Amino acid sequence: MAINPFEFRTVPSIEVAWGGAKRFGEIIAARFAARKVLLVTDAGLLKAGMIAPIAASLEAAGFSVAIFDKVVADPPESVLYGCVEEARKVAAGIVIGVGGGSSLDIAKLAAVLLSSAQSLADMYGIGKVRGARLPLVLVPTTAGTGSEVTNISIITTGETTKMGVVSPQLYADFVLLDAELTVGLPPVHTAATGIDAMVHAIEAYTSKHKKNPLSDALAREALRLLGNNLIAACQEPTNRDARESMLLGATLAGQAFSNSPVAAVHALAYPLGGHYHIPHGLSNALMLGPVLRYNAQAAAPLYAELADVLGVKGGGDTKARSEQFVAHMQVLMDESGAPRRLRDVGVTDNSLAMLAADTMKQTRLLVNNPVEVREEDALALYREAF
Ligand SMILES: [Zn+2]
Repeated sequence: MAINPFEFRTVPSIEVAWGGAKRFGEIIAARFAARKVLLVTDAGLLKAGMIAPIAASLEAAGFSVAIFDKVVADPPESVLYGCVEEARKVAAGIVIGVGGGSSLDIAKLAAVLLSSAQSLADMYGIGKVRGARLPLVLVPTTAGTGSEVTNISIITTGETTKMGVVSPQLYADFVLLDAELTVGLPPVHTAATGIDAMVHAIEAYTSKHKKNPLSDALAREALRLLGNNLIAACQEPTNRDARESMLLGATLAGQAFSNSPVAAVHALAYPLGGHYHIPHGLSNALMLGPVLRYNAQAAAPLYAELADVLGVKGGGDTKARSEQFVAHMQVLMDESGAPRRLRDVGVTDNSLAMLAADTMKQTRLLVNNPVEVREEDALALYREAF
């Protein structure tokens, strides 16, 4: 079969090493010339003692280290500007993001703003960033967003709205995957972030316009790793095999959706984050079931392939296999322990129409969905998830 033309981009270098954070200084010293580092993270990780060994390792390797720990969930522009200011104060030559998606997103944009006169307002959208950035290193501490290998940063710009900067400059120079950093993640976060990563793989695999053989290969392997290890990672937090598989799976899913974008699950999830501050992973986990059933009308042949990837038992025709895949995902989500209904996380019945109206603004994502989503469809999907 002829291959449709496509382009595939990702980061140039990924090191996978259990316990690698303990050797972080030597790993970075061998790769970069600059010796002044800004570590971008959140106060929770700092308090949990996860940043000190990384900073100590950098200092032992000859780096001077400043720490910016003011990243919050759904970070607003003011956090980004604070980070840039701190980096300027210490004349940072490398930006290192350590944490969940928010810390990595802030590190990525800070590295760009530090070497550019372009305003942030001018960068929102796809392919708007001009010029270069500072050296950028990313170290994820959750297995979920895949932000370490995507070209996307999401910033909260108003009360409830989020904007994205999508540009190739946001691909980091170097990524360290040390799954030991994820063992302290509580089960409910492991579940929600892990399901988010599975959503990335599934939505990349069924994405309408940019699906391609490389993103497909990554999405399939991501789903296999994530689907086979989600429950073990939730139930046995120190299980090294499960943790390494989840982190690698989340990164592979990130590479897939960075080139074959996510769709309706994320479009429906963003308003939940905006209005109710439900974490990104959880809001995606809550919307996945209804969207899988809705999209099956067009995506059944692909879902049938994913049933094989996950080793789902059963058989029959494409429709039967697709239904078995959707049912398998339901069971995984039920067993993971993540909240399963919108009403369980504080969403009220009378807000569903407003959420549906907001979903329609996510055109960047909705265009990728295999089935068209109109406002009444979005409302029906929220009702199903309620
Ligand atoms: Zn996501």
